[in-house]
Amino acid sequence: MIVVENLVKTFGGFRAVDGASLEIGAGTITGLIGPNGAGKTTLFNVIAGVHQPTAGRVTMGGEDITGLPPHQLFHKGLLRTFQIAHEFSSMTVRENLMMVPGAQSGETLWNAWFGRKGIAEEERALGAKADEVLAFLTIDHLTYEKAGNLSGGQKKLLELGRTMMVDAKIVFLDEVGAGVNRTLLNTIGDAIIRLNKERGYTFVVIEHDMDFIERLCDPVICMAEGKVLAEGTLAEIKANEQVIEAYLGT
Ligand code: ADP
Repeated sequence: MIVVENLVKTFGGFRAVDGASLEIGAGTITGLIGPNGAGKTTLFNVIAGVHQPTAGRVTMGGEDITGLPPHQLFHKGLLRTFQIAHEFSSMTVRENLMMVPGAQSGETLWNAWFGRKGIAEEERALGAKADEVLAFLTIDHLTYEKAGNLSGGQKKLLELGRTMMVDAKIVFLDEVGAGVNRTLLNTIGDAIIRLNKERGYTFVVIEHDMDFIERLCDPVICMAEGKVLAEGTLAEIKANEQVIEAYLGT
């Protein structure tokens, strides 16, 4: 689905991503691991259009998407989740979902036919879609909670929910488990697995929690020093000597 060829991203003279090549298969939940500073987040940001690459190429389904801005990738169904912006923290969880740019109820013709009355109808339909997303993620009890009051894990579920308001095909998730308790991490894992199986989402997940990676991810790609070191099942990766060395060296 995504092919990355010889991707390079430098900051000043420093090569944060240094000729990384990898493939993300459609329908997979691919794990991206590696020691701190390996270049995982930078790789994500280059693929998702947040940073321009210094060199290299990214294709999606054969189409060159190198350096496209996030909103164009968004329309192609490639999404990278971001923390809920500060200015949205005083809005409710439901409002945060309804405000996702590009979210549509699926009844857009209505607007063309009925004008202003249609807009109210569209909003109702969007609200219904948000309610469906919240039920799917089992956080419907938080519908009218202010986003700023959510715990770290609940915020992650809301970030995931935002991707469900548009027609996502591939979602890049950065550090799902950081500061999230085990119960919520399992809920997030369940949601990812269900989105993958029931809705055909492809995921790429950066995560340090190996139990989480083991439960969800196949294949796993290990990066170090801006390059891809190894790819395989988690068991294969764990047995790879270069990988062991890379982790021990940090
Ligand atoms: P990882 O996600 O694997 O921990 P990062 O992609 O965050 O790694 O970082 C890779 C390297 O690039 C690090 O040494 C980091 O300090 C550096 N780096 C990341 N972003 C920037 C930036 N905007 N400016 C300068 N250096 C950066």
